[in-house]
Amino acid sequence: MDLKKYVRDIPDFPEEGISFKDITPLLQDADALASAADALFELIKNKKVDKVVGMESRGFFFAPLLATRLNAGFVPVRKRGKLPHQIISEPYALEYGTDVLEIHVDSILKGEKVLIHDDVLATGGTAKAVCKLIEKLGGEVVQCNFLLELKFLKGRDKLSGYSVEALIQY
Ligand code: IMP
Repeated sequence: MDLKKYVRDIPDFPEEGISFKDITPLLQDADALASAADALFELIKNKKVDKVVGMESRGFFFAPLLATRLNAGFVPVRKRGKLPHQIISEPYALEYGTDVLEIHVDSILKGEKVLIHDDVLATGGTAKAVCKLIEKLGGEVVQCNFLLELKFLKGRDKLSGYSVEALIQY
């Protein structure tokens, strides 16, 4: 299935000059949703995975679907102040300035194998921060997997040393 057909460009969102890739048409379509979940699973199915980490908020769409297929747990990484239990945090770059991403300290055990999932790989700053959080807890990142990769932003360069997979490239 050509999943690109189900991704639309929204000009000047969330601000002027940015062309936003909107995946809601893909999520709304039963066949496209199932096909994307199957294809994301194909990228990782031969590796052992204990936890799938999804990034707030669009990483939450597919990460739990992948976790059930992989017989793994799901762990949310959230923006500042959202997680209720004890956390560790890591800064990441925003367009202007920085913010932090947080994860619960007891979400990943030492030595656990972790798949990172997010909807879009852009500059790679978000995914790199999540890799650091997982490694601080003693986990091992076995793959970073994305629905979409914006290749011209060279996110892969920032994630060198990690296995990076994406279903759709622009
Ligand atoms: P990065 O840190 O620059 O790689 O940005 C990736 C993060 O920004 C991901 O969490 C995405 O959800 C979000 N993002 C960046 N560009 C887009 C887009 O065009 N559509 C949807 N999400 C985006």
